[in-house]
Amino acid sequence: TVKDPLILVIFGATGDLTARKVFPAVYNLMRTHTLPHPFLILGIGRSELTSSMFQHNMQAALAKTHKVDPSAWEVMARSISYLQMDYTRPQDYAKLKRTLKALDPDGRTQGNILFYLAVPPDSYALIAEQLGKAGLSREYVKGNGRISLVVEKPFGRDLESARKLDRTLHTWFEEHQIFRIDHYMAKETVQNVLMFRFANAMFEPIWNRSYIDYIEITAWESLGVEHRAGYYDRAGVLRDMFQNHMMMLLALCAMEPPSLFESERVRDERSKVYRAMQPFPVDRIDQRLVLGQYAAGIINGRPVPGYVEEPGVDPRSLTPTYARMKVFIDNWRWQGVPMFLTSGKRMAEKRTEIVIQFKEVPCSMFHRILGDHITANRLVLGIHPNECVDLTFQTKAPGTRVCLRPVNMHFDYAKGYGGPLFDDYEKILLDCMLGDQTLFWRQDAVELCWGFLTPILEECDCPDRRKTIYLYRAGTNGPQEAQRIKP
Ligand code: NAP
Repeated sequence: TVKDPLILVIFGATGDLTARKVFPAVYNLMRTHTLPHPFLILGIGRSELTSSMFQHNMQAALAKTHKVDPSAWEVMARSISYLQMDYTRPQDYAKLKRTLKALDPDGRTQGNILFYLAVPPDSYALIAEQLGKAGLSREYVKGNGRISLVVEKPFGRDLESARKLDRTLHTWFEEHQIFRIDHYMAKETVQNVLMFRFANAMFEPIWNRSYIDYIEITAWESLGVEHRAGYYDRAGVLRDMFQNHMMMLLALCAMEPPSLFESERVRDERSKVYRAMQPFPVDRIDQRLVLGQYAAGIINGRPVPGYVEEPGVDPRSLTPTYARMKVFIDNWRWQGVPMFLTSGKRMAEKRTEIVIQFKEVPCSMFHRILGDHITANRLVLGIHPNECVDLTFQTKAPGTRVCLRPVNMHFDYAKGYGGPLFDDYEKILLDCMLGDQTLFWRQDAVELCWGFLTPILEECDCPDRRKTIYLYRAGTNGPQEAQRIKP
């Protein structure tokens, strides 16, 4: 349970993220008695709405996924208000200040405010700056308590814009106040990668180039761009998935153990991985990267349009919806071990997993009978939807002849624990309220990842590159050409 009372202020409260993720998370936290008391919510948008209209909209959005308990909702609705603002007008931030005061005239929330930027990324800097100018960013002055700023992804669209955004945020907020979200990191099975590696003595000694052949990180989605075409067409898979989620998964697999499970030490180790990443060979990018875009196809027996036929997408768009890349980490642990990162939309299935492929036995005593090849051990950390740990190893198949058969040791997260206690956005909100930044991005890591991806992004954005975005049919495993990026 979070102890410190607070006001959650959501900018962009009429949007998709608020309705689908933030509000359901708040509702669930309230139902599990995890929220502090009092806990007030102020939704902000440019749309003209009254508080009761906003409450009604949120209830309707919740009802799409939850069986809303009317009495619980009634209690929650009393803490929800709405304020219409024009983000460019300083007067409106003065109005915001007055509203905050009016919502909590007795100061029961002790001046603690969590500003959540659920607006399009172009507005992050503007709102942060105006909050600062209005005196709403500095902590512990003029009656302020703890003030946090939650920033959604994407953080910039390249290295330069990420730095610029950061400079603006830091003009008004301290680093410990800024929470750069990566909701993947808040998934139980993603956090489990660190627990699995560093709370068991048996895996870490073989977690290196001597024993691991390669690492394969996959994040496939069967969904297309859905209602987010406007954003996605400008971002593409590299900005949408690689700069954040894929890099985060990579760091968890590759980082050294921190001396303490504490925010700065964990984030130091993640950053060291990014610092050690081998830059892409600019003249041979094709050997390390394949980009694709989905064409029309079949998903779950249903025909679906191609990317360029989706509503809101430029019909001539060459935005990649698929990428597979091979990266190396130049340090003692990982020298020469390829790491494959693959993500795509409209793939054959929804699957996020990490595969640790171990090397084959150095010498087989069975080679006269079975030949030289024995399938090597493989560890699969299933992130979603199969939340599991799978270890494949060889056994003797019963019979008089020597015959090997790979079998599986399987741990199912849902069966083992009955499912996660908190979903990712619940965990994010909780950690923001508790001031714990372990699962959030630090600016140095953001910049290192943008820096690493810059040559690829420049290639993608350059018109010559356009002929090398390969089409793949929706519902398949991606473009054929991706097969050339292999161990
Ligand atoms: P959205 O629905 O497109 O926009 C949110 C709200 O922002 C809108 O309802 C609109 O409300 C306001 N808005 C729209 N254009 C604006 C503009 N130019 N300036 C200021 N306000 C504007 O966005 P979203 O999908 O909720 O996403 C919000 C943020 O979360 C984005 O940065 C996105 O990248 C990030 N994100 C979203 C998801 C997701 O699943 N949706 C996932 C991860 C990250 P008013 O017109 O009422 O002001």
